[in-house]
Amino acid sequence: MLKIDNLHAEIDGKEILKGLNLEVNAGEVHAIMGPNGAGKSTLGYVLGGRPGYEVTGGSVMFHPARHAGLVPASASPQAEALADKQTPAQGRGDDHGWVDLLELEPHERAALGLFLGFQYPVEIPGISNVQFLREALNSQRKARGEALLSGGEFLKLARAQADGLGMDQEMLKRPVNVGFSGGEKKRNEMVQMGIIAPRFAILDETDSGLDIDALKAVGEGINRIMRAPDKAVLLITHYERLLEIVAPDFVHVLAGGRIVRSGGIELARQLEAEGYAQVAA
Ligand code: ADP
Ligand code: MG
Ligand code: MG
Repeated sequence: MLKIDNLHAEIDGKEILKGLNLEVNAGEVHAIMGPNGAGKSTLGYVLGGRPGYEVTGGSVMFHPARHAGLVPASASPQAEALADKQTPAQGRGDDHGWVDLLELEPHERAALGLFLGFQYPVEIPGISNVQFLREALNSQRKARGEALLSGGEFLKLARAQADGLGMDQEMLKRPVNVGFSGGEKKRNEMVQMGIIAPRFAILDETDSGLDIDALKAVGEGINRIMRAPDKAVLLITHYERLLEIVAPDFVHVLAGGRIVRSGGIELARQLEAEGYAQVAA
C-alpha cells in the first residue's frame, strides 16, 4: 500500500531524512519508534505534504485500493484522474493504482484516504468540531464522487464516534481543540479518524500525555477503526504500552533519518528495557 524508497528530505536546508526505506502492506500496522529528533514527525509531515518539508531524493508510492492489486471499489472519475497522475515506478509491473504521493497536494492525498494524526493537534478558534469535521469529510467525499452527508446524517456519525472513544458529546460543539487538555486533543484526533474513516493513518505520538483510561480508549479506537484488510497504519510512538493494545505487525527504529532496525513487538519490549542508545547503536 505504501512504498518509501530512499527518501531524503530537508527542512530549512538541513537534511533530516537520509535515505529512508519502508514498505507497508494493506492490513498491516507498523510502529515507528526512535529517539527525539530522529525525524519521525518529519516523516509524517512529508507523507502528509506539509509545506516547508522539501523532498530532495527518493520516492513515495501509494496504493489506495482496498487490497493491493485491486481497483478501488469506489473508483470515481475524480479518483481515477488522481491515479492518472501516477508515474511509472520500479517494480510496478502491471499492477494498477499506484500513485506518486509526492506529486499530490495535501487535500488530494486526504481524498485518497491518507490521514495524519498530529503530535501537537492544532486549535482552531471560531470553528466547531462538527463544522470542521463535516466540511473535511464532505470535501473528501466530493473529491471521490461520493454522496455528501446531510447535517443530520453527519451528526449521527459524529456522535457514534465520540461515544466509541469515550468523548463527551458536548465537545463536538466546541471550537476545534480550543481549551482541550492534551489527552482530550488526542482523543479528539481519534474521533476525527473514526469519522473520516481513512485507508492509511499516520499517527504521531497519539499516545503521548494520555492517562491510562485514555490510552486504552485510543488503542482500542485504533483497532476498531483501522484494523481491517484494506487499511494500514504507521504508528509513531515512544511507548510500548500502546503497542501492547494495538499489537503492531512490525516495529521499526528510526534513528538519524533512516530505519536502522526492524522486528516485531519484541523489539519494542527490548527498547523499553534497554533504551535506544543500546538497541539502535
Ligand atoms: P522526532 O519527531 O523524531 O522527534 P522531528 O522530525 O520532529 O523529530 O525533527 C527532526 C529534526 O528536525 C530535529 O533535529 C528538529 O530539531 C529538526 N527540525 C524540525 N523542524 C524544524 C524546522 N522547522 N527548522 C529546522 N529544524 C527543524
Ligand atoms: Mg519528538
Ligand atoms: Mg515528533
